[in-house]
Amino acid sequence: MKKKKRRLRSVIQILFFILIAFIAVNHTLLESGKGIPLLSGASLHAVCPFGGVVSLYQLATSGTFVKKVHESNVILMIIVFSSAFLLGPLFCGWICPFGSFQEILGRLGKKLFKRRFNHFIPYKYDRILRYFRYVVLIIVLIQTARSGLLMFANIDPYFALFQFWTGEVTRIAIIALLVVMGLSLFVERPFCKYACPYGALLGLFNLIRIVPLKRNVSTCINCSRCDRSCPMNISVSSLEVIRNHQCISCFQCTSDDGVCPIPGTVEFRTGTFKESDS
Ligand code: SF4
Ligand code: SF4
Repeated sequence: MKKKKRRLRSVIQILFFILIAFIAVNHTLLESGKGIPLLSGASLHAVCPFGGVVSLYQLATSGTFVKKVHESNVILMIIVFSSAFLLGPLFCGWICPFGSFQEILGRLGKKLFKRRFNHFIPYKYDRILRYFRYVVLIIVLIQTARSGLLMFANIDPYFALFQFWTGEVTRIAIIALLVVMGLSLFVERPFCKYACPYGALLGLFNLIRIVPLKRNVSTCINCSRCDRSCPMNISVSSLEVIRNHQCISCFQCTSDDGVCPIPGTVEFRTGTFKESDS
């Protein structure tokens, strides 16, 4: 049963990766008159919920909209924010095709480095580096509001992955993509952890989300399987309520869907654990 549920996440990740790749390729085909008409208006910008964030920021600060931002961006942003308010950054853990891409490369890294994978950076540096994505978020919002353009696309490895065959991708974005690909062999989701401005924003929902992740201390056997399985290196077994800003709501550590061997010990839940849960 557990494996079935974990497979569901993989299936959803693959489906969204294919969908975004298809939209990107179709947009290019359209330019030569070969795109599928139903999807012909869609571009990668149109399916980026971060476009909605920067557009609203610019609207609030200067009263204008960002060029290349579509109504779909704002709709997507509302859906993603609502789900994050309820259950945390599901978008990062289940949908973002660039997160999935890094995970796939990480599987190769796991084969190469076994248990050392995802543990190369000493904790004292790692915990500071994780706040760098908030610096990126602030710079992106300010630069976008000032210029009226989606500035992050110029350095965005996600944009580079799905547009590298077009003339729209800068050399810096290609280099950023190659760096992320290389790092993904050593660290799980390096871009999500250290640089993604959208992940930074969604991560804040972990602090206020309605349904937090909880560990039942009285049933936990301290096996640390949850810690080892967490792609974001969160020490689940040392916490009772996990509200870490880096959690991507992947369910990997939970009892129902993930690696915790004791039923009802790690769960997304609102109430406290009762005696009968022990
Ligand atoms: S394994 Fe658990 S704590 Fe780690 S990111 Fe996934 S849901 Fe969050
Ligand atoms: S996997 Fe479950 S039982 Fe093991 S340490 Fe984590 S919460 Fe406790």
